[in-house]
Amino acid sequence: MRRIYLDYAATTPTHPEVVKAMLPYFTEEFGNPSSIHSYGQEAKGAMEEVRAKVADLIGARSEEIVFTSGGTEADNFALKGVAFANESKGNHIITSSIEHHAVIETGKFLQRRGFKVTYLPVDEYGLVDPEDVRKAITGKTILISVMHANNEVGTVEPIAEIGKITKEAGIYFHTDAVQTVGHILVDVNELGVDLLSISAHKLYGPKGTGALYIRKGTKLVSFMHGGEQERRRRASTENVPGIVGFGKAAELAQQEMSEEAKRLTYLRNQLVSGLLERIDHTRLNGHPVNRLPNNVNISVDYVEGESMLLNLDLEGICASTGSACSSSSLEPSHVLLAMGFSHEQAHGSLRFSLGKWTTEEEIGQVLDILPRIVAKLRAMSPLLKSQR
Ligand code: PLP
Repeated sequence: MRRIYLDYAATTPTHPEVVKAMLPYFTEEFGNPSSIHSYGQEAKGAMEEVRAKVADLIGARSEEIVFTSGGTEADNFALKGVAFANESKGNHIITSSIEHHAVIETGKFLQRRGFKVTYLPVDEYGLVDPEDVRKAITGKTILISVMHANNEVGTVEPIAEIGKITKEAGIYFHTDAVQTVGHILVDVNELGVDLLSISAHKLYGPKGTGALYIRKGTKLVSFMHGGEQERRRRASTENVPGIVGFGKAAELAQQEMSEEAKRLTYLRNQLVSGLLERIDHTRLNGHPVNRLPNNVNISVDYVEGESMLLNLDLEGICASTGSACSSSSLEPSHVLLAMGFSHEQAHGSLRFSLGKWTTEEEIGQVLDILPRIVAKLRAMSPLLKSQR
């Protein structure tokens, strides 16, 4: 059976050109970038080229990029790094209630360490109101962290507007841009952010590699202690093959992003309108316009997201419930709950995330198969019977 992969928000396949670029760095170009000899210096040279490419992709300067093991580490570094470096100024952090667990759980950790964290509400589309950010600021606020786009419902947040507010207030501003870098235009100056998280495996790069953008002059402490790598900001021998792959992915994204965003928006809209037309009692979740080009998140009444997912998988279609970051969790999505969904509604959601290898034919197949699955499940549904 030919499988249809529609879970690009979870991870993307590594681009064949990325793999090709990485391979020599496992074998003949194996040097440690901290070594003085030619092997080391060649690895260092390759790594610095990538730093420049990643910086260019987000409108930053090379020296403002610190390589990390991915988005989670970048988020942890931003929040803990700023919190612990600025404790003498204040202990208040503002974030949103729809952040990725990498931010939410770090917030909870910081609360246990004596920091106060405000989790801002969102509206029914998952949007943070910049005015709520302004109102939440106190004399003790040291950091604001709001994600650029939500990984479950695809809503793109008004980061530039929030950036103006944080700048006026003189407070550090972090955004988790894991779902946007390489997919839509991201410019750290236009957004007005001081820190920004990136993950390579969301843009056709390898897993276990990412970066934190740190605006020059930002005061933060490191939480990886050891050698002097990354200008003493993050100890540990760099993942050179991963970083080289990240660089290739960034380069390809820069070349292809605008055309690809148009293509995906077209396919996304086909899928949304087709699903809403063919399945009754179905709604699109997230913002109708301000959303990622590749994200479709729908709620289907009277059926469980998990059941739809398993049935889709049997037909070779790989999607996500969007109801949990990890499929092992049966907790309803904190994102949908924050958007005002009931537990039951949150359980009936499904996320399709499209990508580079998604075709119109595949979208057509989903439009044929999902209505059949929903009809079958609804025929057996205790949820539907209780409504009758
Ligand atoms: N932030 C967001 C918005 C994400 O979607 C993810 C991945 O799912 C992460 C952070 C974590 O990134 P990584 O898997 O590179 O640790």
